[in-house]
Amino acid sequence: MALMARAYNQAQKFGADLAIPDAVVTVDGAADPAHGRFRLKLSYGDSAAARAVVIATGARYRRLDVAGVDAFEGASIHYWASPLERKLCAGEEVVLIGGGNSAGQATVFLAGQAAKVWLLVRGPGLEATMSKYLIDRIKGLANVELVAESEVTALAGEEGALRTVTWRHRKSGAETTRPIRHMFLFIGAEPNTAWMEGCPVGLDNKGFVLTGDQLGEGRRPLETSRDGVFAIGDVRSGSVKRVAAAVGEGAQVVAALHAYLADSAA
Ligand SMILES: Cc1cc2nc3c(=O)[nH]c(=O)nc-3n(C[C@H](O)[C@H](O)[C@H](O)COP(=O)(O)OP(=O)(O)OC[C@H]3O[C@@H](n4cnc5c(N)ncnc54)[C@H](O)[C@@H]3O)c2cc1C
Repeated sequence: MALMARAYNQAQKFGADLAIPDAVVTVDGAADPAHGRFRLKLSYGDSAAARAVVIATGARYRRLDVAGVDAFEGASIHYWASPLERKLCAGEEVVLIGGGNSAGQATVFLAGQAAKVWLLVRGPGLEATMSKYLIDRIKGLANVELVAESEVTALAGEEGALRTVTWRHRKSGAETTRPIRHMFLFIGAEPNTAWMEGCPVGLDNKGFVLTGDQLGEGRRPLETSRDGVFAIGDVRSGSVKRVAAAVGEGAQVVAALHAYLADSAA
């Protein structure tokens, strides 16, 4: 909160207008150039004109569609596996859901401390979604068990602390309940780009915004397929999905904006 307050004060010092709380509902890319090339409509009815736009709307991490997820999110359900979470899992059974490379990396990482990692996927295996080197590493870990064609059906615990997780085999219907206090979700993220529909920019096959070199030569760093529209942080295709990376791109885009504004004024 202190950091946020300082950022807020600093932005005001530089003359920024802030609209909080508010959301951009639509962007029109064909506004009158004399009054800015973009017109942004805000949810409380205001609008803003701009010569350039920076998309920094992040991504929503997919959640599990099981009753009680909200209650356990603070302490027992994780969307991340850092050394902190790994320590929490020392000597415990954990369940990790997801079949992509990030799920594979987290499995290997957590298996170093956890008593057992149950790796749950809905599909028949990992071959179609995970790199072979990770699959081979996972196969070599005695404390990792792949549970294919299965999905979590129930969570139980009290006061935000998970105690058991139940999953069901999708074909046989057989249910398994294990004493598990930490569950990891690596089931993907969806970029917050719906508001850009009126001002389309190039996206990758998962809907994340393409920038710079990803679009071929001639684009500025962090610039999208549309002149004057930039993207930074989690919403950007290929971004690292870390706070430091998003903040760094925020600093970097300032230089790109200056260059763009200078060029477009010339
Ligand atoms: C559970 C969890 C744990 C994490 N742990 C770590 C960690 O330990 N270390 C680490 O480095 N990273 C961690 N991350 C990742 C990190 O949070 C992100 O990489 C980082 O926040 C990305 O910053 P961003 O500015 O791109 O997006 P965000 O932080 O997601 O910010 C985007 C903002 O845009 C707003 N927004 C969306 N649409 C609109 C709109 N139409 N109009 C106006 N505003 C809009 C959103 O409400 C949000 O406030 C974690 C992520 C999650 C989900």
